[in-house]
Parts: sequence; structure tokens; C-alpha cells
Amino acid sequence: MKALFVMSLVVLLFNLVFASCQSKKTNDEKVVVMTQNSKYQNEIKALIEELDSKGIKDKRVIAAIETVPRHAFVSERLKSRAYENSPLPIDKDQTISQPYTVAFQTDLLKLQNGDKVLEIGTGSGYQAAILCEMGMDVYSIERHLLLHDKAKLLLDSLGYKAHLFYGDGYRGLPDQAPFDKILITAAIGEVPSQLLEQMKIGGLLVAPIGDDYSQEMTVIERLAADEFRRTKHGTFVFVPMIKGLGE
Ligand code: SAH
Repeated sequence: MKALFVMSLVVLLFNLVFASCQSKKTNDEKVVVMTQNSKYQNEIKALIEELDSKGIKDKRVIAAIETVPRHAFVSERLKSRAYENSPLPIDKDQTISQPYTVAFQTDLLKLQNGDKVLEIGTGSGYQAAILCEMGMDVYSIERHLLLHDKAKLLLDSLGYKAHLFYGDGYRGLPDQAPFDKILITAAIGEVPSQLLEQMKIGGLLVAPIGDDYSQEMTVIERLAADEFRRTKHGTFVFVPMIKGLGE
């Protein structure tokens, strides 16, 4: 009996210490989300099969895409298309990325349990939710106040405890740095040195680098304080990263 009590105490303490964004969800919240997902279960299954067949290596990414309710991140009229493998419009002429792109970028981050991740371009909050669902410590910046406010409300209501900031992503978050991983979800001409400096040594940054029409998915690894290695991973098209705050 005493042994059982001690074991329960150990399990409880373990859960408290290793609580991630995701595990702060209450059971009630989980039930609501799962019930909503069941309405789309055929569409979700088809999407997961498609992503699986496209060679996403990190199966935790696929599991997160299966769990996070993408329909909650798009407007009412687009909900029926939420599980299509395509980008969809959100407010302020921005887009929620295509699920494959989300999976591909997340895969490239080579996430370790509990990584501290900075995302530039919160948008709908979907990518931030995926990272939270995977147990990461998520920081995300958005330059449009409306998108920032909506994402904050939505992620809170789904039980995801991401740290969301309204600001200019070009500056990063110097007060919260360093980060294990940095993910840029808008097209950028070149990664500013401020962002490279906010990466831990051994950390990775994933960004679509190019002009407004086409970008090369690039991984920048910080090997030492002043040593970086770049690899390229195919062509993508993102909405542009814009300097300064939006209205
Ligand atoms: N990750 C988002 C989609 C990104 S779309 C999602 O999961 O829904 C790109 C986002 O980057 C847009 O919301 C855009 O407003 C934002 N953005 C563009 N320039 C930015 C900047 N300088 N700082 C922060 N966010 C920026």
C-alpha cells in the first residue's frame, strides 16, 4: 500500500516537472477537440495518408497533424476545406500554410523533446499549435495585431500554452533568446544577423529564402559562435516577410 502511494507520488511529481504546452490541456478540453475532429475523420485520414506517402520522417509531426483541429484555424466558409493539402486564406491577406509545408518545415527542425522554438509569423497559430502538441516550448511573433489577438484566443481555448508576441520578427526576441530552433514561416530575402545570434550553438534555423515569388527552403545550422552551415531543400512559395508592424 505504502509502495503504491510512493509510486503515485513519483508519477505525479514527474508529470508536474515535465509538463509541456500540450500536457496542460484538461481532459474536458481534449474531449471537445476530439469530438470536433471526428466530424472530419475521413478528410483527416486522407491527409495523413498523403503526408505519410510524401516521406515526412518525423512521425511525431504526422501524429500532431492528426490531432490538431485545423478546421478551428480557418474561417467558417473554409472549414469544409480545412484538411485539403493546400494553403488557405486567413485575415489580413495572409495564409495558413499547406499541411505538407508545415510537416516539411517541422521535420527539418529535427526537434528534441522540450526544445525552445521561436516561430516568426504566427498567422493563424496553427504551426504554433503543432509545435505545442509535440511538446515544445513555443515562442511566436506576428506583425498584425488582429492575427496575434485571434491566435492567442484560439490557442488558449484549445489549451495550448504558446508564448505569443505582437512585434517585428526581424528583431526576434532578444530577451527570450537563445533558442534551440528558429522557424521562419514567411518568405525572407536573407536571414538577419540578429536572428542568427539568437540561436544556440548546435541549433537550427529553417527559413524559405528567396524573392517574393519563389524561395529555397534553407536549413542554417549554428556549428560554433561564428560558424554556420547551410543546406537547401527544394522550392516553395510563401507570403513575404515584411519589416515593421502591420496595423
Ligand atoms: N505560421 C502561420 C502561417 C504563416 S503566414 C500559420 O501557421 O498559420 C506568414 C505570417 O507571417 C503572416 O501572418 C504575416 O503577417 C507574418 N509576418 C510577415 N512579416 C512579419 C514580420 N516581420 N514579423 C512577424 N510576422 C510577420
